Amino acid sequence: MINYNPTDDIDISFNSYVMEREKTYNKHLEGGIPDYAFASDFAIRQKIRALPGVYPFFKALTSTYVPRHKQLLNQSALKVGAGQYPEIYNMTAECANILGIGMPTIYIIPEMAVLNAYTIATDDESPIIVLHSSLVERFSLDELKTVIGHECGHIHNNHGIYSIAVQTMLEQGMNIPIVSQILSALTIPVRLMFMAWIRAAEVTCDRAGIICANDPMDIMKADVKLMHGGMINSSEANIEAALKQYDILRKTPVRLLELNSTHPNTVRRLYANLEFLNSEILYKWRPEWKSPDMKLIDKQELDTRCEKYISVLRSEKGNE
Ligand SMILES: [Zn+2]
Repeated sequence: MINYNPTDDIDISFNSYVMEREKTYNKHLEGGIPDYAFASDFAIRQKIRALPGVYPFFKALTSTYVPRHKQLLNQSALKVGAGQYPEIYNMTAECANILGIGMPTIYIIPEMAVLNAYTIATDDESPIIVLHSSLVERFSLDELKTVIGHECGHIHNNHGIYSIAVQTMLEQGMNIPIVSQILSALTIPVRLMFMAWIRAAEVTCDRAGIICANDPMDIMKADVKLMHGGMINSSEANIEAALKQYDILRKTPVRLLELNSTHPNTVRRLYANLEFLNSEILYKWRPEWKSPDMKLIDKQELDTRCEKYISVLRSEKGNE
């Protein structure tokens, strides 16, 4: 009698493992970009890329800025690892695995005043995610995972150089004389184009945050916390009531101040998130969340609706 082990037929070679993984991730790429990316994010980036000299300038700038910033972080912040805040380390690994990116390095910086997180990534350097300590303190682990998923989205979508470009503009060339001079040559429409891009990029990455979440509604709770600062010992905020603030916002010209903001007004993000929760794309990533009674919209409709919410000038509702 021949001893037959059925598991002998399973191909466990590393090559086939890599091929399987690539197949999974390629399934989520369309024209080389992730299928969940907000259309305006890519469209505006293409316009920026077409401006003569602008992209190479920022690429050269980041090649000196990023290694220096990394060293500064290592001296002033706490590096997360398997033995240092392992719960954050593990959830970062989960997010990276879901999106199919390499494991980023993650730091917590002592910053209690502002709830924030950001990513530093370029073509040449391994990416870093930075979490403000206020975020770690005031967000539940589920909410924090949506933030880390969002930051992984910036890496997944190659936002790095463009994000640093915006940061450089906001910091007036980081006090480097030649950089300041070059930046002063950028016209107002070009600057506004960068700002419009970075707000569109946030929509893309909120979608990544939802894809990586433990529960699809976690990002709504996290975003509302950004509106009130995550007060300790307070009751949970009412998301329905917060959504109504959009009706106040869109009636006033004061909203135009947002043209110079790096993030869409949070209530716009809440609506854009709700649209994503009703889109086919999300359930391609997370089929286990899908229920038979859902009426889902396609990617084109999703982006059309989100554009209405995110556009500062239009400020319409998705179904109008
Ligand atoms: Zn972001």
